[in-house]
Amino acid sequence: MSIRIAGDRGFSLQKSKRKTFSVMLLKLKFVVLAVTVCIFLMAPAIHVAAKKQLFGTIQPVVVIDPGHGGDDTGATGPDGSPEKVITLNFARILAAELDRGYKVVLTRTTDSMLDLEKRTSLANYPRGDLFISIHTSASYNHGTTGIRIYWYQKFAEDSLTRSEPPPNAAAQPGSSLLWTQAQDRFREDSLSLADNIRGRLDDLYEARDIRLQGAPLLVLQGANMPALLIEIGHLSNPKEENKLNDQPYLIDLARAIRRGIDDYFEQEKQPGAP
Ligand SMILES: [Zn+2]
Repeated sequence: MSIRIAGDRGFSLQKSKRKTFSVMLLKLKFVVLAVTVCIFLMAPAIHVAAKKQLFGTIQPVVVIDPGHGGDDTGATGPDGSPEKVITLNFARILAAELDRGYKVVLTRTTDSMLDLEKRTSLANYPRGDLFISIHTSASYNHGTTGIRIYWYQKFAEDSLTRSEPPPNAAAQPGSSLLWTQAQDRFREDSLSLADNIRGRLDDLYEARDIRLQGAPLLVLQGANMPALLIEIGHLSNPKEENKLNDQPYLIDLARAIRRGIDDYFEQEKQPGAP
């Protein structure tokens, strides 16, 4: 009798311990899940806070992406200038302008081909603070001029009226949820950066045609930071093709973009900035 009772107690005790252990395990799983969700939701805020804290002591990382390369020539001007050469040349000039005050990373430094996702990954890997992809425009109308600044938007604002497709626009089959959502979280910052750069380009070119536009650009989609694609001129226009091969012109253009980037970071430092 006493043995049976002792046995029952032991069984109850083991059962109770197992139950306690299961409850603890469940709680632990819940805590891990909650922490994971919090980290995901707070990532942009943590990134911005870290940027604010570090700016001034550590140089922000600006990733410059010279469009095209290798077999992918991009557009070609009436005089035969390949877009891939112009974008790399300008990226180097912009990098030199940004050298004091920023840590600059180029996604390519040679005439090499890179797929679009790789370009964005190269920006995310060193924890870039800004991503700027450099391209030129091409239009069926050779008289078209101007600079275009694109930020990521799922559908182009004037997709019904555009005469040519936006650069690198494509659906992304099989992309992960986080990759496709990465740029959505930096939309306001990207718009602010675009606005600051346009402000400085307006100073430089006055009445020149500078347009800001949202477009579903694959190269921007996965960037985990404010990101823009800038078309620095219309390569299809003979006069603009000449300018895009003119070093002093390109240096002025790079300086204006740098001032816009400076303004953006100054704005970020202001109290009450998001
Ligand atoms: Zn291009």
